[in-house]
Amino acid sequence: MFTRINRLQVELPTPRRPDPNAAAALQELLGGKFGEMSTLNNYMFQSFNFRSKSRTKPFYSLVASITAEELGHVELVSNGIALLANGPDPEDEHGADVADAPFEDMKDIRSAASFLHAGGGAMPVDSNGLPWNGTYVFTTGNLVLDLLHNFFLECGARMHKLRVYETLSDPTGREVCGYLLVRGSVHAHSYALALKKLTGVSMENLLPVPNIDLARIPESQKYLDEGSHRRLYTWGEDVYRDLAAIWSPDEGALPGDPPGELEVVDGHPDGGKIPELEGASSAFTPDYAPEEIFEIATKLYKAM
Ligand code: MN
Ligand code: MN
Repeated sequence: MFTRINRLQVELPTPRRPDPNAAAALQELLGGKFGEMSTLNNYMFQSFNFRSKSRTKPFYSLVASITAEELGHVELVSNGIALLANGPDPEDEHGADVADAPFEDMKDIRSAASFLHAGGGAMPVDSNGLPWNGTYVFTTGNLVLDLLHNFFLECGARMHKLRVYETLSDPTGREVCGYLLVRGSVHAHSYALALKKLTGVSMENLLPVPNIDLARIPESQKYLDEGSHRRLYTWGEDVYRDLAAIWSPDEGALPGDPPGELEVVDGHPDGGKIPELEGASSAFTPDYAPEEIFEIATKLYKAM
């Protein structure tokens, strides 16, 4: 089972201006073939389907704990998308005359459905609005093959994060990319080390793919400075701690990154606040006349 924490893995800056097309670009990192929906569901189903869990435990712990991190990545990218689609000044739309085409601009954005259907929220679709689908999940039960796929998946995800990053000028989307590039590199590294334990092949020598150091990405620097590139978390009970047999202090950071031992951290990072996005009555979020809903919620809270 899972527990839930009302925090984002990192705090996201507020966008300078609304940018629904930047939000659409970020959708590639959510619902694209190599997006967070794919990493989450690949590792989640592999962890559910794992055979001989107790006898392969460090490998099971690795896939199971990274699953929980990926769910938090889905949450992080979704919030980045909603921030960019929402913009910094939702009050401008509040109470607009619905007969005055207050959202006329939205018919021309790349992903019109992100407003028309989702009210500016994230959806499980890629940057062109094509739906994420379950055929992106690879779960054969063969441990080497599944880990090899996961290594490939993280390298593909890194490729797409780098390309999306190159399209963005706003700090919100760039922060999402800067953090996820560090964490995705950790995951690629960890699957490489798992494959090395199983096969003797030093897969980590292939990294990074694409061959660019994170030192070139300014938004990744503070995460490198704090050592995030050397850390895996258990995200739950210490029963997952034995992933340290793979993500081991005997191993170090990748050559292009700040040096140091790899470490397993019990629990999860402190993270940051979940953005409080205000509704817009003319977009009917949470409704055209939300005062009644707010009043009911306040009464329920007081009566508790
Ligand atoms: Mn991820
Ligand atoms: Mn990952």
